[in-house]
Amino acid sequence: MTETTYISIGSNLDEPRQQVIAAISELENIPNTNVITVSPWYCSSPMGPQDQPDYINGVAQLETTLDPQQLLQALQNIENTHHRKRQEHWGARTLDLDILLYGTQIVDQPDLQIPHPGLTTRNFVLLPLADIDPQLVLPNGTPHGIPLVTLLEICSSEGIVRLSPGDICGTTG
Ligand code: ADP
Ligand code: MG
Repeated sequence: MTETTYISIGSNLDEPRQQVIAAISELENIPNTNVITVSPWYCSSPMGPQDQPDYINGVAQLETTLDPQQLLQALQNIENTHHRKRQEHWGARTLDLDILLYGTQIVDQPDLQIPHPGLTTRNFVLLPLADIDPQLVLPNGTPHGIPLVTLLEICSSEGIVRLSPGDICGTTG
């Protein structure tokens, strides 16, 4: 069955803009998967350790017939081709690809939680998600779920700037 899924894309090392642009092409190459929409890019302050560069973040909407575990594997393969090193928690990285939502499914496995646990509080995923689909409702185990707009109302908008095409993170040019 085809599901709509949302992937967060983030980078703050080794030419982040090129990393995230390349990631879109690589998402397009995942088997049985199509990239439907890509959000505008955002520049955001790092979470956790502050002695690292700002991030470029965005979200891609995909349609896929891969199941969540197959999709996670495909995303980790892409991260690995970007020479991602898994070191410090929340530390700098060349590329981070997380599954935010997978249809309305809730997944709670040791290596995979969907909706992504950070989704509800992180402005750098809520804002680009809302750019793609402001009507989104997140599954939370109740029939009504949580509207994305409700999360946005209570989320801080500090430390994040939407980039215009051509803007470079950390500068105005
Ligand atoms: P983070 O993205 O939280 O900074 P990592 O990218 O290093 O951390 O991911 C750590 C682990 O998170 C991965 O090995 C993966 O198994 C797990 N994980 C759990 N849920 C998800 C999800 N929804 N999307 C991607 N990875 C996930
Ligand atoms: Mg990750």
